[in-house]
Amino acid sequence: MNSIPGTRSDDTSPSGGPGGEGHVLAQNRVLMQIYELLLERFGPQHWWPGETPFEVVVGAILTQSAAWRNVERAISNLKAADSLSMEGILSLPVERLSELVRPSGYFNMKARKLKAVCSFLAETCSGDLARMSLRPLDEVRKELLSVYGIGPETADSILLYACNMPTFVVDAYTRRIFGRLGLVDPKEGYEDLRRFFMDRLPKSVPLFNEYHALLVALGKNICLSRKPKCGECPLNGLCARASGRQAMARY
Ligand code: SF4
Repeated sequence: MNSIPGTRSDDTSPSGGPGGEGHVLAQNRVLMQIYELLLERFGPQHWWPGETPFEVVVGAILTQSAAWRNVERAISNLKAADSLSMEGILSLPVERLSELVRPSGYFNMKARKLKAVCSFLAETCSGDLARMSLRPLDEVRKELLSVYGIGPETADSILLYACNMPTFVVDAYTRRIFGRLGLVDPKEGYEDLRRFFMDRLPKSVPLFNEYHALLVALGKNICLSRKPKCGECPLNGLCARASGRQAMARY
């Protein structure tokens, strides 16, 4: 059976047991190993798919419960209406904004969310996201989380991909992949999962940027929710679920 050194819950040595120093160090190494394997397999992803930081903010809201192709249609509508800007969104009647973002689903709610985030940006940094990024991460994150419609995944996506601030984005793919690898409890709350990565990886914007994008590539193409293609997976040799299956197949 394959196992990740120092990460098994039955490792009871003083420094190697769960939470011990050796255990954490081993997990740090494994997280970087996973990153390298994904990078080797998929190559740099160069995220986020958006032309400007503001477009990233809009995309982070529109992508909630929506496929990216539908987000692209909504963003195209905003561009065609010359409204893909903070001022443009703030000046549109909410009904018109809803029409434009209709392809992304939940359009009435998303129109209100876009208005709310634009009001926030106008008040806090006059729409200058680079200025926002000069402030302490925890402070800006707390403020963003108080804006209507901004949950932790959306906030971290905005902070990382629009503001270039070093925060780790946790999404359903991250939860699924790391749960299957046996490195986290997939039922953990968002903040605990984010902390798991933040405590173990160097706080690097390029690393966090690529890491999240690579996990999305793996989750979309190989570690599928119903039938993961473990035989094609670059993480196969590290994966608790894959090794468990192999062990069961032998008996
Ligand atoms: S080996 Fe299978 S279950 Fe494990 S991460 Fe890869 S695809 Fe997912």
